[in-house]
Amino acid sequence: DFLKGDSESPKDKELEKALRPLSFDDFAGQDKILENLKVFVLAAKMRSEALDHVLLHGPPGLGKTTLSHIIANELGANLKITSGPVLDKPSDLAGLLTSLEQNDVLFIDEIHRLNPIVEEYLYSAMEDYKIDIMLDSGPNARSVQIGLNPFTLIGATTRSGLLTSPLRARFGINSRLEYYDAQLLSKILVRSASILQTPIDEDGAYEIARRSRGTPRIANNLLRRTRDFAQVKGEGVITVEIAKMALAALDVDQDGLDEMDNRILSTIIEKFKGGPVGLGTIATAVGEEAETIEEVYEPFLIQEGFLKRTARGREATEKAYKHLNLVPKYRTG
Ligand code: ADP
Repeated sequence: DFLKGDSESPKDKELEKALRPLSFDDFAGQDKILENLKVFVLAAKMRSEALDHVLLHGPPGLGKTTLSHIIANELGANLKITSGPVLDKPSDLAGLLTSLEQNDVLFIDEIHRLNPIVEEYLYSAMEDYKIDIMLDSGPNARSVQIGLNPFTLIGATTRSGLLTSPLRARFGINSRLEYYDAQLLSKILVRSASILQTPIDEDGAYEIARRSRGTPRIANNLLRRTRDFAQVKGEGVITVEIAKMALAALDVDQDGLDEMDNRILSTIIEKFKGGPVGLGTIATAVGEEAETIEEVYEPFLIQEGFLKRTARGREATEKAYKHLNLVPKYRTG
């Protein structure tokens, strides 16, 4: 699935890596976040200190992992990458933390999914660069304190609302990434196309950009697929015609909504009279996990005005009816 980025082939992963910006200058958009980060990174470097801990939140594919690579590069530090669900036991975390060199960066993806016991260990590590490790158990149990090198934790989350407040409070820098507009995505696509050595014209880039759900990962994925169409069905150049042909073949509609987006909207409208209907009910009806709907699909549908979140559940908007060529019930009488 393009949105979740979880079923990409090794080839896709490799290409994604090649397209990943490595410096602040290559990173498009998120201007305010970047301006601040540049100052904080420079200041930390001037003082030879570790950068404050950074929390990045926002939907998948907007550049949280990319930004952590960039921050580590710009700091001249090493980057270690892990994720919340992977850190099962305190010893997993201790192993990672003790391997960090001075001012290194540790990136924890999906930090809202940390095991609570592991999370507790993280507190003192973040605050005092120290961890307590239990030796033995039963009557011989004792804990020893281990000092760590100063480091920067970068936490990424799609659900900042699920973070505990003690954890949230330990991040000095807290940034929310926004969806990208079509202009910015065009710029990203032109850069990516040049890395892939694929000619693309302005209209072709814009057509892909405006149908990429505001998300660079999706834009790059669509670019790679469109490139195949350009090679096989065209002259190798990504034009607007080629882009339209490829996007139609990939089930990306005029507004950039994919099959699941449309299934969510049509389910709310056709099975639940347009809502309000609860998230769990929608999830069962469309055959997707509630969490995924909430983290991946819903934010964009809400931002684009197809969906409303009310106290009583989710409601399809008039724009959703129009999009599906349906007429709202309340207007037919
Ligand atoms: P996240 O960690 O938020 O899920 P990633 O950092 O993995 O997202 O970004 C997905 C892909 O999108 C990256 O491989 C990168 O090539 C591209 N990308 C993300 N943000 C930008 C950006 N601002 N400029 C250029 N490319 C970007």
